[in-house]
Amino acid sequence: MKLSEEQKMIRNIAREFAENELLPGVIERDKSALYPKVQIAQMQNLGFLGMTTDPRYGGGGMDILSYVLVMEEISKIDASCGVIISVNNSLVCWGLEEYGTEEQKEKYLRPLASGQMLGAFCLSEPEAGSDATSQNTTAEDKGDHYVLNGIKNWITNGKYADIYLIIAQTHPEKGHHGINAFIVEANSEGLTTGEKEDKMGIRSSDTCSVLLNEVKVPKENRIGEDGFGFKFAMNTLNGGRIGIAAQALGIAAGAYERALAYSKERKAFGVPISHHQDVAFKLADMATLLEASRLLVYEAAQDKDAGRPYDISSSIAKLYAAEAAMKITTEAVQIHGGYGHVREYHVERMMRDAKITQIYEGTSEIQKLIISRSILR
Ligand SMILES: Cc1cc2nc3c(=O)[nH]c(=O)nc-3n(C[C@H](O)[C@H](O)[C@H](O)COP(=O)(O)OP(=O)(O)OC[C@H]3O[C@@H](n4cnc5c(N)ncnc54)[C@H](O)[C@@H]3O)c2cc1C
Repeated sequence: MKLSEEQKMIRNIAREFAENELLPGVIERDKSALYPKVQIAQMQNLGFLGMTTDPRYGGGGMDILSYVLVMEEISKIDASCGVIISVNNSLVCWGLEEYGTEEQKEKYLRPLASGQMLGAFCLSEPEAGSDATSQNTTAEDKGDHYVLNGIKNWITNGKYADIYLIIAQTHPEKGHHGINAFIVEANSEGLTTGEKEDKMGIRSSDTCSVLLNEVKVPKENRIGEDGFGFKFAMNTLNGGRIGIAAQALGIAAGAYERALAYSKERKAFGVPISHHQDVAFKLADMATLLEASRLLVYEAAQDKDAGRPYDISSSIAKLYAAEAAMKITTEAVQIHGGYGHVREYHVERMMRDAKITQIYEGTSEIQKLIISRSILR
């Protein structure tokens, strides 16, 4: 795919940043589940947190493909940083820019896109994951404000967010048509966070529950019309999937590049292991999966950039790239033999990090549901 000079430049900036600033310390951050606070601040300064937001609201005004290129380069080295910037860019900033009022954009989008604040997107609950319609968090309408009660689960940026976009049920009798989305400030009375989850992968990203106990939210902080919340969440996730597909692509690319280099250095039976056909064929399969993922992810980004429908292309890209990332990282560990099983060689972390891309922002099974419904319609 032909990239513009600007796209190549932003990719190079992200690549250099990842190699110089993210690579040192990535193993330690993973091991101790240490949040990359300094590195996120650096990326806020680079403008990576509000890349596609209109410059009128403090963003970079770039296209989605540029955002994807940055996500790929960052996730190639540190997938935890990948998810942190992905949530802020594609779920929080995009959602506010597309559906927020002018006042909401001035007050919240501007600091979020310009890197002064960090956002979180709160849809999942202990009993509501794939089936996001069964929201138990309530938002009671009290006239000039709402009162929110409930628990949101698995929230990325949970402890570090300044702003939460929270999905909650206002009219249970209307089912998903009764759901609303709200902008909630972190310092709101009654809002607390749970323990940081001890995860298999993307360990240095922050994931925790957000607890809401009689949290007052002004009416002007509701996003869209009364009952728009479910549609808001689904539309936002359609674009979010492009970011996660790019994260999967980056993890896979990182593992492939390391396996390729290792296969040329490591000798067995007197020759580099790449001379053994089974290793060479593994690399061929990995390269093929990687290239197909890249084309699908870039195509979904270009659909969004061109104003074409992207709900299905983003699902296809996420499904394919996530499955490919799992296969590629597993083979990268295999090519490294015993060395693949220890932290020092990076690929074991990449294999653990790849797993989540099959789960969040819609599991692979849910992507198949979306794609099959569309082709059978
Ligand atoms: C590290 C991490 C970060 C996350 N970050 C966020 C975040 O920032 N904000 C947020 O809101 N959520 C977040 N999530 C939640 C994530 O989106 C959910 O975990 C995911 O959507 C799956 O929901 P669940 O865990 O409840 O699994 P379930 O929905 O219970 O699914 C369990 C299994 O059943 C399968 N399944 C369910 N329904 C069907 C069906 N109809 N057909 C076929 N198979 C089905 C699923 O595919 C899965 O394999 C995060 C999760 C993790 C682990």
